[in-house]
Amino acid sequence: MTAAPIVGVLALQGDVREHEHALAACGVVTARVRSVDDLDGVDALVIPGGESTTMSNLALRWGLMGPLRERVSAGMPAYGSCAGMIMLADVIEGGRPDQETIGGLDVTVRRNAFGRQVDSFESDLHIPVLGDETVHAVFIRAPWVERVGEGVTVLGRVEGGPADGRIVAVQQGHLLATSFHPELTGDVRVHRYFVEMVREKA
Ligand code: GLN
Repeated sequence: MTAAPIVGVLALQGDVREHEHALAACGVVTARVRSVDDLDGVDALVIPGGESTTMSNLALRWGLMGPLRERVSAGMPAYGSCAGMIMLADVIEGGRPDQETIGGLDVTVRRNAFGRQVDSFESDLHIPVLGDETVHAVFIRAPWVERVGEGVTVLGRVEGGPADGRIVAVQQGHLLATSFHPELTGDVRVHRYFVEMVREKA
């Protein structure tokens, strides 16, 4: 790895540009990943929010799923928001039958977990690794984490309301995932935390 790591953004579908802006605000160089060559050129990967079934389809069709799995299992730092969290999960509930994930994160996530009535909502969360100030979390047809394996650290949960206590931010070594979209709020603490993970790995 070079002195200045290149952070890729998986650019099959989803809110790629918003992640690029957040990463740029953290002072890192980014590159879009659409091919195996692109993937070879990055040191870490952000998987955006969007639609995980579409991302799964495109990754399979473009021959990226295998290489993504190899890089993640070889220790490449990866961060997934919302659909990206689903892509990193080992097990999904409520997925489409043909839907595959990259996996690596020893969790079970439930797609569209917060229910049809509440497609999207916003909530302030305490995520101690990001500091004392709460994080304003935007959830859009979001998953939550139903099961965490032994090596997984819970970083944040919903506080109050019908989903009180649901796990929405996790880390397992080099893998980070949030149910919500920090790329949409201008608060780059989650991205900065990920960039620190990337730099530590280097
Ligand atoms: N519901 C979407 C999915 O299953 C995720 C939504 C999002 O990323 N905002 O992939």
